[in-house]
Amino acid sequence: MFRAEDYVKVEDLDEAYELCQKRSSLIVGGMAWLKMSSVTKRVIIDLSGLGLDTIEETDQEFRIGCMCTLRQLETHPGLNQYFNGIFKECTRHIVGVQLRNVATVGGSIYARFGFSDVLTCMMALDSYVELHHGGVIPMAEFAARPVSRDDRDVLVRIIIRKDGRKAAYTTQRNSQTDFPLIACCVSRLGDHWYVAVGARPGKAKVTQVTDDGNESLADLAREAADAFNYGSNNRGSGEYRHQLARVYVRRLMERLTGRSVSKA
Ligand SMILES: Cc1cc2nc3c(=O)[nH]c(=O)nc-3n(C[C@H](O)[C@H](O)[C@H](O)COP(=O)(O)OP(=O)(O)OC[C@H]3O[C@@H](n4cnc5c(N)ncnc54)[C@H](O)[C@@H]3O)c2cc1C
Repeated sequence: MFRAEDYVKVEDLDEAYELCQKRSSLIVGGMAWLKMSSVTKRVIIDLSGLGLDTIEETDQEFRIGCMCTLRQLETHPGLNQYFNGIFKECTRHIVGVQLRNVATVGGSIYARFGFSDVLTCMMALDSYVELHHGGVIPMAEFAARPVSRDDRDVLVRIIIRKDGRKAAYTTQRNSQTDFPLIACCVSRLGDHWYVAVGARPGKAKVTQVTDDGNESLADLAREAADAFNYGSNNRGSGEYRHQLARVYVRRLMERLTGRSVSKA
């Protein structure tokens, strides 16, 4: 069971950052994940009074506060319109509406879970993480960092630039609300395809392939899917995941081009 002796609802980000430098303290999001752990902390730090629970849209970007819930991502009209509904698609299988009303975007990205639908989805976009101390860094760079007890920054918001990418997302799950067996997000900007694959079962990574007009979508999908490593766990083997990734990446590419190629 998760335990904490004290709770501080901070007044600003400096206070949060200062408090979380101690190993005995911890920032909390919606606590949906933490409450399943057996962690004991002296102080937990609550950011819910800082107005970081909104999704702002400007001409250039979306700015998603760390305390936004997964349900807000799922139902935000601007985000889903701009990115062809991928945020609805990447959240709708996560347990149920009640959990998605609690689990936060900050907790989902900061934790960098291998199975994360949200991380996989954002990796295929021109997305960034804003850290209070570390500044704005590309999502792929943040995701590649190991999750460490000594990594004690505050994730303030996620920024997604509107660079014209269109995207599509899909997962395969052994049952409707289980963790994904494989998660794929594909986006396209001009001749460039950005392909993110998560739940391999390692955390999501992204690769880029370029369509020079000489390769079929199946070839491009295979090239992208083959750029990752795949492992086995109780949900499926690495070989199966690899094969699924090739097929789903191709299908997502087809969806984005309106083309349909036959077999994998
Ligand atoms: C039963 C269950 C099933 C799930 N299934 C899926 C699934 O299929 N797909 C999927 O993608 N996700 C799934 N999730 C994960 C969920 O989507 C969230 O990612 C998870 O709950 C973390 O969000 P949270 O708000 O609960 O974070 P918390 O549990 O509050 O925190 C998680 C971690 O993030 C840190 N943290 C939180 N906010 C910040 C911040 N602003 N700055 C710095 N550190 C921070 C905390 O210190 C902690 O280490 C599942 C969760 C549960 C409980």
